[in-house]
Amino acid sequence: CGIVGYIGAQQAAPVLVEGLTRLEHRGYDSAGLAVLGGSGLRLAKRAGRVRDLAESLPHRFGGKIGIGHTRWATHGPANDVNAHPHTDAAGRVAVVHNGIIDNAAALRAELADAGVPLVSDTDTEVLAHLVARSTAATLEQRTAEALARVEGTYGVAVAHADFPDRLVVARNGSPLIIGVGEKEMHVASDLAALVRYTTTVAHLDDGEMATVTASGFTTYRIDPSGLSATDRRAKEVD
Ligand code: GLU
Repeated sequence: CGIVGYIGAQQAAPVLVEGLTRLEHRGYDSAGLAVLGGSGLRLAKRAGRVRDLAESLPHRFGGKIGIGHTRWATHGPANDVNAHPHTDAAGRVAVVHNGIIDNAAALRAELADAGVPLVSDTDTEVLAHLVARSTAATLEQRTAEALARVEGTYGVAVAHADFPDRLVVARNGSPLIIGVGEKEMHVASDLAALVRYTTTVAHLDDGEMATVTASGFTTYRIDPSGLSATDRRAKEVD
């Protein structure tokens, strides 16, 4: 339903909560955050409102990279476990996803056969495991490999404890916008979550993904056989 992401000099959690609050008009049943800091990836998620999530955040929820989500359940009931972000078993990869993975049942069966414990009922969870299981060199390639297995629609944002200087985002049939700030970058599924921070934005196309660091972004075609850069620039919105 709603995606936000932040990477920069500020603490991520308050920025993400603010962004999620701006998306509340879209309706949702659950909310969650993952932040990446010195002690790795930390997760907070639950069924209910963004305010409930914000009030229940652990005291130490530090990190200057993070992703957040408001969920409108399509696969599995609205409960704490099914709330996004979803992670791999080791808790090193976090994924938020808007949309529907049509072949989730087949991918879940394949992962279960490989001994991967699935903890949620969602279609989204497979993405976290697929990224985690990729042995490609970069997070971009790992994400592209995972997305190549997926049939359906997605806007996604990925954070990985082994790549603590970036977020990777992608779009196929569900909006994904990058916002360029002062020494910080934002991502969101809706302009409403960004405009408080920046009006310089780039909209991903379907089939496009991006690396987002604190200082900028690079876009690519989603292609597991090799990523080719696309020429997407940020522009001012009114
Ligand atoms: N299909 C995913 C789920 O049910 C994402 C739903 C959404 O777009 O919020 O968890």
